[in-house]
Amino acid sequence: MDFNRLIKKIKSYDKDADFDLIKKAYETSARLHSGQKRVSGQDYIVHPLSTAFILAELKLDDTCVCAGLLHDVLEDTSYSYDELKKEFGLEIAGIVDGVSKIKALKHRQEYTAESVKKLLLATAKDLRVILVKLADKLHNMRTINALPQEKRKRIAQEVLDVYSPIAYRLGLADIKWELEDLAFKELYPGLFEEFKTKIDKTKKQREQYINKLRRDIINILRKNKVKFFSIDGRAKNFYSIFKKMQKKQVSFEEIYDLIGLRIIVNCVKDCYEALGVIHGVWKPLPGKFKDDIAKAGVAAHFLYKGLGEDKKFDRKLNWIKQILDYRNVSGEEFMKSLLVDVFGDRIYVFTPKGDLIELPSGSCIVDFAYAVHSELGNKCVGGKVNDKFVSLKYVLHSGDKVEIVTSKQRVMPGRDWLKFVKSEKARIKIKQALHLLQGIPAGSMKNLEKDNSKGSLVQVNVPKAIISFGKCCNPLPGDGLLGLVSRSNRVMVHKEDCERINLKKESSKKRIKAEWREKIDSKITLKVVAYDRIGLFADISHTLAALKINVDTAKAYTYGKKDAACEFSMHFNDIKELSLVIARMKKIADVLEVQLIV
Ligand code: MN
Repeated sequence: MDFNRLIKKIKSYDKDADFDLIKKAYETSARLHSGQKRVSGQDYIVHPLSTAFILAELKLDDTCVCAGLLHDVLEDTSYSYDELKKEFGLEIAGIVDGVSKIKALKHRQEYTAESVKKLLLATAKDLRVILVKLADKLHNMRTINALPQEKRKRIAQEVLDVYSPIAYRLGLADIKWELEDLAFKELYPGLFEEFKTKIDKTKKQREQYINKLRRDIINILRKNKVKFFSIDGRAKNFYSIFKKMQKKQVSFEEIYDLIGLRIIVNCVKDCYEALGVIHGVWKPLPGKFKDDIAKAGVAAHFLYKGLGEDKKFDRKLNWIKQILDYRNVSGEEFMKSLLVDVFGDRIYVFTPKGDLIELPSGSCIVDFAYAVHSELGNKCVGGKVNDKFVSLKYVLHSGDKVEIVTSKQRVMPGRDWLKFVKSEKARIKIKQALHLLQGIPAGSMKNLEKDNSKGSLVQVNVPKAIISFGKCCNPLPGDGLLGLVSRSNRVMVHKEDCERINLKKESSKKRIKAEWREKIDSKITLKVVAYDRIGLFADISHTLAALKINVDTAKAYTYGKKDAACEFSMHFNDIKELSLVIARMKKIADVLEVQLIV
């Protein structure tokens, strides 16, 4: 490794780089580290120079390359931060300072929320901090032979636990693979040799096969006019074979997909197009297709576009911002969110405007709503996926276009949502919302008002009665009513023939007469639950129009597995009109139930 090779590399992708500054950085680093040796006996400068070369291979900017050359001066020489800042400016000094603050972890137990959080905080300030750190780690791993056995195992474990997942999340696939294989070799030397022998045996045969496959794919993509950037084949990395063997409890011979082909395209849309064409020719094995589309992380974008004021790039940094949102959350919860939200498998879905939203795989409509905005989450009642109504629990897939259906009536999330949301972000926001709203004095809580407004349709002979409706029998205008008095002024209204009021527990309560009020003069929302079919919504709308009822708002969503629910808000003058509407709704084909919401 020499300096001229580095310069040549940089010139190959950036002729306008500040070569004087790069030279000054190299000379300063060489001077400061002079006399220092690496454990291997080599001059120390080989390490920063190699680190800078890895950064240049990633086509990074001159600032980043300079930071790579100087990355160890603050830690290993007498040079100070102020001197560095004075000589090389705030940006380079900031990156080097950030890299120096990321300390190696001595014991695996030290990978605490706090240490990883610190690492990510450094990244959030300038992504180049982590890029320099990864390049540094990679060169150290390449030269790890010089270190004593025990130290090597610890470093290798740290690479697998912390650095390769970060490289993966940044979209630096090649660095991830190399780091993993180098670490694998340290931790499982016997297996590594075994794999190597087996893979080498079929090397020639495999290469021929990859080349043929590559040519076939190029032809097919061209024929279908799919734009692509490049295609390259690779043997699967050792560590991923090992992980697969462990996960599936199978032998090396049973891992049939030992080769991989990588097709680089420009955007997510092109990627799905290419995938469609390829799956048209080679059918994916059931259950074996894994959608990683859009996973090319922060760095991929960064490498092509540079660190401009790019909006998309900002969005890609969201996962880091997400993590920082958790600053006030307990360590354990933070770590859980980190594992699921950052290192877990991800899906990528779109808002109606086409913005990309990243979620942990297995996320549902509610996760999406909270990822967009807390208020959207708190008010969501359903959603549309690719223009079809779905329920809150509907599990999203990469590429889905998602729209959230909200309701003004919904003022807080359902407690049961905690059972099915996947992202820690949604979980935390739901808990916050439930906690916050419970802290408000009961009198001002909207859902009590809601109960009262429903109660206002009914009259009972109890002073200042607080009326609520029995959930067991869903009384509707037209039904005969019965009131059960539980405490002095609380009345629960049931249908006259409700089975539950005759049960033992309820039978001891005082029964009173309850009646629908004749004049209502208010807005009422009805929920119609029906077996989902085409034209259902239109049938209901037509029925309402025929009755000359003006609908204020209407929405529909699927409900359970096969059912649909439609909600209509309308203005009624008297109870007879409301009863008529309900009776007509019940007569529409496939309608299962009509509920009075307010
Ligand atoms: Mn270093």
